Amino acid sequence: MTPKEGPMRCPRCSSVTWGDLKYCLDCGQYLYIECEECGASWRYFYEYAYCPGCGTRVTKAKAKST
Ligand SMILES: [Zn+2]
Ligand SMILES: [Zn+2]
Repeated sequence: MTPKEGPMRCPRCSSVTWGDLKYCLDCGQYLYIECEECGASWRYFYEYAYCPGCGTRVTKAKAKST
């Protein structure tokens, strides 16, 4: 069973990604969101409003242009 749609997709190019990937294989998009305060990181699709590590308000991941 392979779902065509799901959360494990690159936010930039929609290529399928999976658990161990840190970067999209097709476009290089970083697939984690990082807290600027404590350095905690989590998968982009969780879209936490607050850091699970320190409670700082999280800003949306910025897509790197290269
Ligand atoms: Zn991509
Ligand atoms: Zn934090």
